[in-house]
Amino acid sequence: MNSRFNALDLLSTRENIQTSTLTSRVPEIFGCNVFNDVSIERYLAPKLYKEFKLVTETGSSLSRDLADHVAEAMKKWALEKGVTHYAHWFQPLTGRTAEKHDSFFTLNSNGEAIEEFTGNELVQQEPDGSSFPGGGLRSTFEARGYTAWDPTSPAFILDIFNQKTLCIPTIFVTYGGQALDYKLPLLKSQSYLEKSAIDVCKLFDENIKKIFVTLGWEQEFFLVDEALFNVRPDLIMTGRTLLGRLAPKGQQLDDHYFGSIPERVYAYMTDLEQECYKLGIPLRTRHNEVAPSQYEFAPIYEDVNVAVDHNQLLMDLMERVAIRHKLRVLFHEKPYAGINGSGKHNNWSVATNTGKNLLSPGKDPGKNLQFLTFFVNTIYAVYKYADILRASVTSASNDHRLGANEAPPAIISVFVGEALTKILNEIEKGIDVTDDGVKQALSLLSKIPNLQLDNTDRNRTSPFAFTGNKFEIRMVGSTMNCAAPMTIMNMIVGKQLKEFSQDVQILMANNTTKNQAILTVLKHYITESKPIRFEGDGYSQDWKEEAERRGLGNYADTPRALDAFSSDSTKALFVETGIMSEEELHAHYEVRLEAYALKLQIESRTMAEMCLNQIIPAAVNYQNSLIENILSLKELNLQEKTYRAQLDLVEDISSRITIIKDCAYKMKKERKKANSLDTRDKAFAYCDNIIPIMEELRTAADQLEPLIDDELWPLIKYREMLFLR
Ligand code: ADP
Ligand code: MG
Repeated sequence: MNSRFNALDLLSTRENIQTSTLTSRVPEIFGCNVFNDVSIERYLAPKLYKEFKLVTETGSSLSRDLADHVAEAMKKWALEKGVTHYAHWFQPLTGRTAEKHDSFFTLNSNGEAIEEFTGNELVQQEPDGSSFPGGGLRSTFEARGYTAWDPTSPAFILDIFNQKTLCIPTIFVTYGGQALDYKLPLLKSQSYLEKSAIDVCKLFDENIKKIFVTLGWEQEFFLVDEALFNVRPDLIMTGRTLLGRLAPKGQQLDDHYFGSIPERVYAYMTDLEQECYKLGIPLRTRHNEVAPSQYEFAPIYEDVNVAVDHNQLLMDLMERVAIRHKLRVLFHEKPYAGINGSGKHNNWSVATNTGKNLLSPGKDPGKNLQFLTFFVNTIYAVYKYADILRASVTSASNDHRLGANEAPPAIISVFVGEALTKILNEIEKGIDVTDDGVKQALSLLSKIPNLQLDNTDRNRTSPFAFTGNKFEIRMVGSTMNCAAPMTIMNMIVGKQLKEFSQDVQILMANNTTKNQAILTVLKHYITESKPIRFEGDGYSQDWKEEAERRGLGNYADTPRALDAFSSDSTKALFVETGIMSEEELHAHYEVRLEAYALKLQIESRTMAEMCLNQIIPAAVNYQNSLIENILSLKELNLQEKTYRAQLDLVEDISSRITIIKDCAYKMKKERKKANSLDTRDKAFAYCDNIIPIMEELRTAADQLEPLIDDELWPLIKYREMLFLR
């Protein structure tokens, strides 16, 4: 029997899936599996606790002695919770997480079984890193990779089928300390931004001593029944459907967004949320998304480092919990052609130890020159470094989304809303840089109490929007590690703030008053960065043309967008800010290019296989029955018009079969050519020579779908996958 129908049969038994999970109230379980501040204080002596706080808050170095004490405290806490193993948990450049488990169990010198965990084991491990992408870094220096504890992100217990493992967030580096992950550059970018921002804050408030970058992500995803997933080779191999015709009903009725959540999905979400709360992930929002079977989770925002870890952990949990519910999560940016894709908006802001959000105009914006400073500097940074930001969110899967008319365009622009646009324009044109001018500028600012209303999601077509008290970066793809774009944001805004401080200092040294100096510089920045501000429809053709006139970059695909990482100015920026060395940046660039080509290679092979093994045989099968029918009718000596339709069908099918076969063979030849090239050329070859063939092949295969007997069609159809109840 056709495996498609087996899978569809299984679907009807899914109604019996346990829909009631035992739920606890959030405050009862929140953070119970996290070695958080409360547990640390409980398990460490007061003096040691103070020392440890100093390390996490100031980034000062950690003594071996203190590490031993923390390890002992962690072990005690973990053993009481039934933990048997520990793992260094890290984020290699694959984009997901990795962990290597070791047992606490060991033998002492008398051969007795004991449970041990030392400071050494906490601080550093050496997982066999040779199978993680390294972009050439390891071969040049040292084959192994090392993980090193990141004390600023709390350890947690992963509980899988009652097997409990203590997970320790770590960075992943070479022997020489070069980054093999997303975390080390993120941590460096955070402290870089902090330094520059504190200098700027000193112009306004001497009490600001510490800066926190905050991130609130919004994770979009699709769910599909496990049985259906299992009979789609493309979903298994690539996470997206490589073939499949749009169902007659997609999202055009707009009846899914914020619609009622189906019971099965609700049970899944509830179960997942409970797991998240135990791990201290502050999930707050869940809802249906635009497309059928598409959903979103969003948390309360947190410090960027912890928020990144929580998102990575969430993705991992989502997949694990889905299995309990006989579901599969599709994180891919475009699992279904013709239907809305998935993103991961990154809401980014900067806060101070005095409890201020530097991107919030506050209750009295008329007194808030500080807000205007951070606001304008961020826009200017994005203007100057748009290409690097664009490169940070590029991938084979996100290419399907950006610029595809249902997600932000590939052109980076900044949306700030009507009220702020007006203010910026007035400052640019109508204000002199005198003390009176400063007063005037502030009085303009005081007129923005409706900022939140004005901005809330007004323009969904913008890739980078100011939404009241934060910037929302909408180009980020749903599969991505948020650390990649967050690192760039911190770096470019940090660099910009540094230049701002210098520009203001120069003016002040020339006897300009502080506020006048600030306003002069901001006015200049507002004028310079004007081309990046755009309030219109980002999907329109007009905008593409207008953006070109403004000189903005438009890189529609990964190989072209990634070139930004190899320019001399980018290298200089990374080196100057200390976020990556030239070698690290190059390795990062190579890994991203390599991943792009590999993903396309897998897709193209899978597609060809599905076509040759499944689609063509089904088509031939159906053709045979048509031919039999034609021959029978002929035998009855009927006129040709009685079997004309069948003949046409036979021909229609044949012509598609020919295209499919030709494309599959052509693709193979192109792959062979591409694979012999160096990394960059290979990526370009996949992009320019292989993708077009994949598209041609898909069109032909999708045209066969409605022509062939439904009983014979081998692949689960869109309508069967998309409407999960
Ligand atoms: P939306 O309309 O986009 O859903 P929300 O107000 O619900 O907007 O916020 C979306 C995300 O933005 C949430 O994850 C939230 O935590 C985050 N967020 C809100 N304020 C900030 C901030 N100051 N810094 C970073 N993220 C924030
Ligand atoms: Mg949002």
